[in-house]
Amino acid sequence: MKIDGGCHCGNITYSAEIDPEEVGICHCTDCQTLSGSAFRTSVRANKEAFHLQGQPKIKTAESGAKRAQAFCPECGTPIYSAAVSDPQVFNIRVGTARQRAELRPKTRGWCRSARDWVNDLQSLRQFPKQRTV
Ligand SMILES: [Zn+2]
Ligand SMILES: [Zn+2]
Repeated sequence: MKIDGGCHCGNITYSAEIDPEEVGICHCTDCQTLSGSAFRTSVRANKEAFHLQGQPKIKTAESGAKRAQAFCPECGTPIYSAAVSDPQVFNIRVGTARQRAELRPKTRGWCRSARDWVNDLQSLRQFPKQRTV
């Protein structure tokens, strides 16, 4: 499946060919910190199938497994992670893809560090737009 997307400010854009069966969630604590949220949703693209326009800032995470984290230097949107040297695979952050509505996660990793409330979102009070509390 062909996807395309980019950061919030438009400085970084990309197109890629991915397998929607490989969309997955990561609950690890690095993903919680780096996303600023409870988990992260990604899909892998091979090097030949990932075309990036713009120059992301690359930060190597020092804790845990060393990964290069690429994000927009202007708006901070995380775009992908990859191996530190000579990456062959890019883990694209699904929230940046225009086709994100079609990219449903199929697997969840690092469930041992998942926040317990993620299994119970349905029970939370819901607002169609901005919440008022
Ligand atoms: Zn940006
Ligand atoms: Zn993770």
